[in-house]
Amino acid sequence: MNMEIPELQQFLEAMGQQKFRAKQIFQWIGRGVREIDDMTDLSRDLREKLKLSAHIGSLNIRRKLVSKIDGTAKYLFELTDGNVIESVLMRYKYGHTVCISSQIGCKMGCKFCASTQAGFMRDMTAGEMLDQVVSIGRDAGEKIGNIVIMGIGEPFDNYDNVIKFLRLIHDPNGMDMGYRHMTVSTCGLAPQIARFTGENMPVNLAVSLHAPDDKLREAIMPIGRKYSIDKLIEACKIYTEASGRRITFEYAMISGVNDSLETARKLALLLKGMFCHVNLIPANLVAGSGFDQSSKKHLLEFKEALVHSGIETTVRRELGSDINAACGQLRRSEMEKNS
Ligand code: SAH
Repeated sequence: MNMEIPELQQFLEAMGQQKFRAKQIFQWIGRGVREIDDMTDLSRDLREKLKLSAHIGSLNIRRKLVSKIDGTAKYLFELTDGNVIESVLMRYKYGHTVCISSQIGCKMGCKFCASTQAGFMRDMTAGEMLDQVVSIGRDAGEKIGNIVIMGIGEPFDNYDNVIKFLRLIHDPNGMDMGYRHMTVSTCGLAPQIARFTGENMPVNLAVSLHAPDDKLREAIMPIGRKYSIDKLIEACKIYTEASGRRITFEYAMISGVNDSLETARKLALLLKGMFCHVNLIPANLVAGSGFDQSSKKHLLEFKEALVHSGIETTVRRELGSDINAACGQLRRSEMEKNS
């Protein structure tokens, strides 16, 4: 199911059906039904017709790992075309959060990231993104309160499908999730951040910064060559002003690369006065990447330097560290097993 209500109405009308059925079907999908036969308020005749021309689910759980430490669950899903992607269920005090993938693979080439190493296969549809949330909610028997698009892929490189997904999950007839409960994480496609500002969806924006100057950023993130930090920060400022939402800058701490006190000072200078927050991520690196995680001491000193300069800073809690929960790692190990 990859349709918003108006599309679903057209689809039904083309079948000679009444369009108010669209809302009923949409509500069933939001409640997580898997079989058209379970849509019990539709006539048997309509259900039979729908079965011939439509299907609901697009994912099957291939593997599921549950952390013994914190209950974080990692799902490896198989799509109808045989590709695999991963999604994560995190249990926070403020509600259950699902981290979804937006593409199969990634083109961005960040040097430290496992998701991009096997290359790019294709964009995901809005329905495939929605199905990650619906399938996990059904499997865990839990209400999903928040979503973050921080799994495999660059959401703004799949712009139209991501916007459609955000609308689908927001629809009051479906999952009815408020935009404030959604977060999009981008490696910094400045023009798309500007375009997104115009959508008037007050979702949380997270930007993977990882370095405060162009030279360093370009060395670890090829996208930095296309959009300078100045351009990126300018787009971010416009977003916060228009949406009233505070931006999160993600910063993976990599030993000897971007974790010095001098770098912290540069970062503080860059972000001074912005409505933002820095989230330091203890880098979760794959063996052989040539990068190492910063020591705890460096991490805390870096944080102190930012806080001292008036920049709100948190250190990301490591969830599911016993189950390879960092993005792209489970898919990668699965692909290596099969190759
Ligand atoms: N493409 C998007 C979303 C996917 S990555 C983006 O770049 O934001 C989600 C976050 O995990 C990003 O901040 C990314 O830079 C970070 N990340 C990727 N690999 C990592 C690693 N090995 N350790 C820590 N964070 C990593």
